[in-house]
Amino acid sequence: MELRLYNNLNRQLEVFEPQDPNRVTMYVCGPTVYNYVHIGNARPPVVFGVLAGLLRRRYGKLVYARNITDVDDKINNAARELGVPIAEITGKYAQAYAEDMGRLGVAPPDVTPHATAHIPHIIAMIERLIEAGHAYAAEGHVLFSVPSFADYGKLSRRDPEEMLAGARVEVAPYKKDAGDFVLWKPSSPDLPGWPSPWGVGRPGWHIECSAMAAAHLGETIDIHGGGVDLQFPHHENEIAQSTCAHGGRTFARFWLHNGLLNFGGAKMSKSIGNVALVHELLEQHPPEALRYALLSAHYRQPLEWSEGLIEQCVRTLDRLYGTLRDLGDVPVIEPIVPVAIEAALCDDLNTPAALAELARIAGEARKAESPIARASLKAELLGGGLLLGLLQQSPAAWFGRGGDEGDDARIQALVDERNAAKQARDFLRADAIRKQLAEEGILLEDTAQGVRWRRA
Ligand SMILES: [Zn+2]
Repeated sequence: MELRLYNNLNRQLEVFEPQDPNRVTMYVCGPTVYNYVHIGNARPPVVFGVLAGLLRRRYGKLVYARNITDVDDKINNAARELGVPIAEITGKYAQAYAEDMGRLGVAPPDVTPHATAHIPHIIAMIERLIEAGHAYAAEGHVLFSVPSFADYGKLSRRDPEEMLAGARVEVAPYKKDAGDFVLWKPSSPDLPGWPSPWGVGRPGWHIECSAMAAAHLGETIDIHGGGVDLQFPHHENEIAQSTCAHGGRTFARFWLHNGLLNFGGAKMSKSIGNVALVHELLEQHPPEALRYALLSAHYRQPLEWSEGLIEQCVRTLDRLYGTLRDLGDVPVIEPIVPVAIEAALCDDLNTPAALAELARIAGEARKAESPIARASLKAELLGGGLLLGLLQQSPAAWFGRGGDEGDDARIQALVDERNAAKQARDFLRADAIRKQLAEEGILLEDTAQGVRWRRA
């Protein structure tokens, strides 16, 4: 089975072959840690995390790097506003990001490079660019000379004028060309700064990714991912810096960009400022439903984000976990990845098709009667879920909606007591228990397998 990915560099689907099957490399731009991240920022780690899992399955050896930008003017501003040291801001939000992604079922990458831990790499790369005539120092700044790189604009396919408008470039007297961008800038004593050949200063954002990718993955990487909003100028600048620092060698062989989230839904837009933070969404919804929602559209398409979408995903997962619960008596020795699900992911990470296949298997499983069929369908459900980062908790944990286990046991005891009361025709007691549970937000459901409960 071939893995085909849409390479945005060439604007076409291409068969992916790593340059070294023993060391596949992928870099994805990570967050700037000055705040809790927005749900839109969770789409790249979730979709490229699925791709990472697929690459590991196919090649075994993958080095996946997702950076943390911990030096940035947005961080400086946040620290100044709160009157706290910068490291307090970056430490807090890098930790929050790791926790939020963990709860969304995102496996940590192999490497999480921090920009501030790579200042010597960044300085060395800037020095190489100056030596090669692609960058120049001026008034404490170092700038990349855009006219020195003929392929500039190839990824985003913009003409120079459009590029200038898109980047909202700063007109500065030390720039030789209006499109030149900053590799290094001076820091006043109240800002984070490192000694450099150009004085005490700090790196620009773009050079960080080029330096960290080279430090951990080498000069030519297999796949570079990120949101389509980063294509220009960030990724264009990464290509310019890396290619010119490495003697013209290709920086990334495949460029993959995910589409953005739309918040057109009226319900969400009212409270967009706070409800769209991953941190807050995780308090209000089952994390797995948020993950499901992020995978529900093809990664290159925009995703219409709404409360309705999340609710629909909760119901879909209720059905899938309900099926697994009904298969509770079937032992599974090992999960099996269904061919159709792997094929869907190998078709440019077609997660909607993979999710549809998961639903189809669950439907088959609900109809199946023979123990062998039930066992193999359950194994496929768990194996397909594994590849997508879904269906890996117990049905009881899913229907418990994150409630604590002691409380789950108490609720189950009440449900059992109500069943016993009904059998003894003590309908007064049975109704009283149903009412008490309803007040706690516990819904009861009569099924062929007896009474099931779940939190609303
Ligand atoms: Zn980047």
